[in-house]
Amino acid sequence: MIKSKLPNVGTTIFTRMSALAAEHGAINLSQGFPDFDAPVALREAMARNVMAGHNQYAPMAGVLRLREQIAMQLDLHRGVACNPDSEITVVPGATEGLFCAIMACVRTGDEVILFDPSYDSYQPSIELAGGRAIHVPLSGDDFLLDRERLESALSPRTRLIMINSPHNPSGSVLSRDDLVYLQALVEQHDLLLISDEVYEHLVYDGRPHHSVLEFPGLRARSFAFFSFGKTFSVTGWKTGYCVAPPALTAELRKVHQFVSFVAVTPVQLALADFMQAEPDYAATLASFYQHKRDLFCEGLAGSGFKIKPSAGTYFQLLDYSALSAERDTVLCEQWTRQHGIASIPISVFYEEPPPQHLLRFCFAKSDPVLRAATERLCEI
Ligand code: PMP
Ligand code: GLN
Repeated sequence: MIKSKLPNVGTTIFTRMSALAAEHGAINLSQGFPDFDAPVALREAMARNVMAGHNQYAPMAGVLRLREQIAMQLDLHRGVACNPDSEITVVPGATEGLFCAIMACVRTGDEVILFDPSYDSYQPSIELAGGRAIHVPLSGDDFLLDRERLESALSPRTRLIMINSPHNPSGSVLSRDDLVYLQALVEQHDLLLISDEVYEHLVYDGRPHHSVLEFPGLRARSFAFFSFGKTFSVTGWKTGYCVAPPALTAELRKVHQFVSFVAVTPVQLALADFMQAEPDYAATLASFYQHKRDLFCEGLAGSGFKIKPSAGTYFQLLDYSALSAERDTVLCEQWTRQHGIASIPISVFYEEPPPQHLLRFCFAKSDPVLRAATERLCEI
């Protein structure tokens, strides 16, 4: 019989909670995806490219026109110069790209620093590469980087640090100061960095998002990942990209070409068409989603939840400790069945969950759905 290489892994919490929500006809604020459609022009571009016969393999690194658009937008919005040929790779979803980057740089026995709560795909990818995940908890109610704990987790085997900002599930955002600090750290200890920035455009209250690409010392040692699924509300198109210096990009592509070889051709062409036609689209997202965050939080005024408005992502944490002492993993299922509202427990993203009572709710939903959700939550 097969001996599992991932004995502690089951079906992901996102798959399980979405299935439970569907089974009970619950409002599904669990798995992160919008319930509204992508811009019409983008969907039309997809249909047009399919009908025009662009249905065979794209170049392994991605459609050049899309990589050029990505480079142009990085220059326009962040003042970051990068070469579309040697530094940008289009991948079939950030998940695949993250896996390939981990495979490309982690060897047996290497240690990789993760910050808990950490996104569910990181640890299994590290284990499959033969590495060991070292979990460093983010600290306090604001889920901030704890420099002391980070430094005490470093060892001569540390190879890689993985960061995620804006952060799923907490919504926290790394500051400029954090990135300057990380830059000095990776240089001093000769480390690589993977930066998961898939929610880059979803940062609220006028704060900026800082990418590792803006800091030369980080840029030289990082794989930075982005996802079109989040930016253009097409999570089902599973397309993202990696920006990394040429030597790192070359190693990423060696793995990517044998994991999936390429991303889907008409999707890439449609994204290139849309980005060219509407170069400022991404800049509209922060106010669009901030309105939704505020609608959700304001709808819960007078409820029993303790709320700290999310700083980024399309997720809001709610502290239910005044309402129940139940474990989050039990409560999210109970509320899906009894109150028709599905969420995600936070404890599953920790190696050692702290004693907290938090559930994650996705507010990438139409306003009437958000209103209906808050009505149900207020009745609990
Ligand atoms: N990283 C984080 C933090 C995410 O939340 C997600 C998906 N929601 C991904 C990576 C994966 O993105 P993709 O769907 O492009 O694979
Ligand atoms: N990243 C999405 C979330 O956090 C889910 C993606 C998935 O189901 N793998 O909800």
